[in-house]
Amino acid sequence: MTIPTVTLNNGVDIPQLGFGVFQIPDDQTTVAVTAALEAGYRSIDTAAVYGNEAGVGRALTASGLPREELFVTTKLWNADQGYDNALRAFDASLAKLGLDYVDLYLIHWPTPARDLYLESWRALERLAAEGRIRAAGVSNFQPAHLDRLLDSSALTPAVNQIELHPGLQQDDLRAFHRQHGIATEAWSPLAQGAVLDDQAITKIATRTGKTPAQVVLRWHLQLGNIVIPKSVTPSRIRQNLEVFDFELTEEDMTSIATIDRGLRTGPHPDQLN
Ligand code: NDP
Repeated sequence: MTIPTVTLNNGVDIPQLGFGVFQIPDDQTTVAVTAALEAGYRSIDTAAVYGNEAGVGRALTASGLPREELFVTTKLWNADQGYDNALRAFDASLAKLGLDYVDLYLIHWPTPARDLYLESWRALERLAAEGRIRAAGVSNFQPAHLDRLLDSSALTPAVNQIELHPGLQQDDLRAFHRQHGIATEAWSPLAQGAVLDDQAITKIATRTGKTPAQVVLRWHLQLGNIVIPKSVTPSRIRQNLEVFDFELTEEDMTSIATIDRGLRTGPHPDQLN
């Protein structure tokens, strides 16, 4: 099975479907990531604040897979924003992961009240120039935050990783990304399970013989989103990859479009500090 890739604005390819490890304790992360790599995932999404970069690193090493076949994302935590702090935090993440570069490094939240994301971005510019990150991106940035960043830097974020699922479809932000060449990556792509009972989804699942989670992931893929579903359940880890052998019709896509309801499973980016 080949997972399609999305080419980022700097020419780097990212698998369109990867594996998220939020809320997996470090000691269970190695098992989960090992199961994911065995199933065929090659892209892993972690963050300093998840406390499981070491667990991810152990699984990467144990897999014996060539480094260039892997795509590893981690994120700069809010308390580490600022130029010097970000460089130090990056070194700490790299050491925990046991890597000498990461594929994608993201500013985790804009935390506008701190007003440090422009400074943090300077650090990411440097890391990119030094080849210690293959791509620099952001997460949870609203258009106002992106506008400030774009005005202040020649380096456009490759990715904005945002909460996105059928309950929160983010049409405006996705259009903004398209206009500026920023790839959209969906976090909590399954809304942590909250959209799997929606009738619009279950009806399509019944007709296609797929599970509601597979229908939701397929919807993301057809919109062009990058997705990083999380599971610690081996059968679901495998199931979430089996989404390349069917297609949603235009009617399916339209019917899922109607269940957007501003549902946030996480904080609003303007408010989190
Ligand atoms: P998801 O939307 O991926 O949902 C995960 C939940 O859905 C778990 O409870 C999991 O259960 C369950 N699940 C997974 N697959 C299936 C399936 N096939 N059928 C039924 N249930 C299923 O939520 P996350 O919040 O974990 O988001 C995914 C990733 O996004 C994170 O792991 C993280 O990497 C990233 N993220 C980034 C954020 C950011 O601010 N940048 C914020 C939040 C997440 P179980 O594990 O028990 O199988």
